[in-house]
Amino acid sequence: MTETTTPITPAPITPDLLTVPRRLPADGPVNLVGLTRAALRDALIAAGTPERQAGMRTGQIWQWIYHWGVRDFAAMTNLARDYRGFLAERFAIVLPEVVTRQVSADGTRKYLLRIAGGHEVETVYIPEENRGTLCVSSQVGCTLTCSFCHTGTQKLVRNLTAGEIVGQVMLVRDDLGEWPVPGAPKDETRLVSNLVLMGMGEPLYNFDNVRDAMKVVMDGEGLSLSRRRITLSTSGVVPEIARAAEEIGCLLAVSFHATTDAVRDRLVPINKRWNIATLLGALRDYPRLSNSERITFEYVMLDGVNDSDEDARRLVRLIAGIPAKINLIPFNEWPGAPYRRSDRARIEAFAEIIFKAGYASPIRTPRGEDIMAACGQLKSATERARKPARAIAAEAGL
Ligand code: SAH
Ligand code: SF4
Repeated sequence: MTETTTPITPAPITPDLLTVPRRLPADGPVNLVGLTRAALRDALIAAGTPERQAGMRTGQIWQWIYHWGVRDFAAMTNLARDYRGFLAERFAIVLPEVVTRQVSADGTRKYLLRIAGGHEVETVYIPEENRGTLCVSSQVGCTLTCSFCHTGTQKLVRNLTAGEIVGQVMLVRDDLGEWPVPGAPKDETRLVSNLVLMGMGEPLYNFDNVRDAMKVVMDGEGLSLSRRRITLSTSGVVPEIARAAEEIGCLLAVSFHATTDAVRDRLVPINKRWNIATLLGALRDYPRLSNSERITFEYVMLDGVNDSDEDARRLVRLIAGIPAKINLIPFNEWPGAPYRRSDRARIEAFAEIIFKAGYASPIRTPRGEDIMAACGQLKSATERARKPARAIAAEAGL
């Protein structure tokens, strides 16, 4: 494992992160990470655990893995020694492999992970005062081709498994040293307190795995992140939006980014399939919509493209009646990007119009820009480091 650092000295990576084997042969033991409780129980029974014991064993193993962060069956001391051996022969507790970790001057940490098949994916931890947000990837690359997003210039390689999604949360907790220590007083301040599905990929195109992963992450006897601290961001996969409320129950963010179909078609091409009116219809029908669970409209600020006062007024008219907050994202540039960030005064004037219409309109502070960890930049640094400049220029259409 190599490590790249910027001025802030990173906390040491725990030995655990370096030494635990993280990949399994295809015909090897079954990885338990990412199985829902029901699937874990089924796996234990299929391996020979008597059915009448399976419920209790599931609860015990679950707590070891997700509450205590244990990776070794031998350490599961409330299980009989023979049973621990039985588990170790058939199962494993494996996370994605950390290839590099970069730490930004602002404390943001970006991890490059290697998953089965040798694919690479990134996850970003953003520390804030009294909390911290983990930005998780759901796919390697993305099948969609939003013209302002660098992930969108890469071909999708594959969906992440539920285990690879949950694994991102677990390995960041490893790195931050956030697992509870037996006997120590409970620390209520959580380093990973919030989770956003805003990394690489379109989470609603990997629905089942994302749902199962979030069930594991939300479980009160394990990682225990409340559904209200999880936000799923979608570019607008209309048929899956209601399912997200019903089957996951987390908060929703929508990458809106434009106020006319002509502009949105260009920025977020999925708009050609489900246009603004269809998307807004699905949001108005969103099963969990309420003032306490408002939808976040993400709006990337692109100089001269979607950032006029007229756009701001149109946006307010379009979303009338939807409990919403508008998150303005200053465009994060990447090599060859065909857009520029709107200047600060323009973003503030835009925010003001929305705010006066009664909506919260926070301007997102770009985090981790020096390590290419900001929204829409993921994977690009890796690609840049490894591909010849000519290939990158061609990909960016230069
Ligand atoms: N695929 C999902 C989630 C990942 S993208 C989606 O599109 O919603 C997370 C957010 O970052 C989205 O709102 C996306 O539009 C935004 N984004 C992508 N590229 C960006 C860039 N270069 N600068 C700023 N925001 C960007
Ligand atoms: Fe995919 Fe989201 Fe990027 Fe669009 S913005 S290409 S949906 S990751």
